[in-house]
Amino acid sequence: MNCVFCAIADGQLPAHIIHEDEHFLVLLDIFPLRPTHVLIVARGHAPFLADLPSPPREALLALADRVAKALYREPGVLGINLLLNDGPVANQHVPHLHLHLIPRRSGDLIALCWRILTRFLPLGRKRLEARLACEAERLRAALLEA
Ligand SMILES: [Zn+2]
Repeated sequence: MNCVFCAIADGQLPAHIIHEDEHFLVLLDIFPLRPTHVLIVARGHAPFLADLPSPPREALLALADRVAKALYREPGVLGINLLLNDGPVANQHVPHLHLHLIPRRSGDLIALCWRILTRFLPLGRKRLEARLACEAERLRAALLEA
């Protein structure tokens, strides 16, 4: 099976990991819809929420709450979209369970819609990588206190 999140969990692919525990990896989305767009990724391969064993399923919201606390420390963040695309028909691009946390700032809807249309285009990749590295460092520190 060729699963990008399994490869990251196995250490075979790099990622901007900001936290990990026995059930989950928390990492930055490399196609962010907004700055500090975070993914909580199941450590084991589970396509649908119903495939996730109950210990991680029950731990997911508590971890999301902790990550959210760190995201709310980012400048201007006043809300967060928590989004779980359950299955390919629901726009799940990687068939391995992941919860999106998309930080929202006042008046950012147009920028969000623009990113939905352009996020997979290979524009400004180098600059984005540098930004992701900075964001990851900040969020790692914030999560230690969250
Ligand atoms: Zn997988």
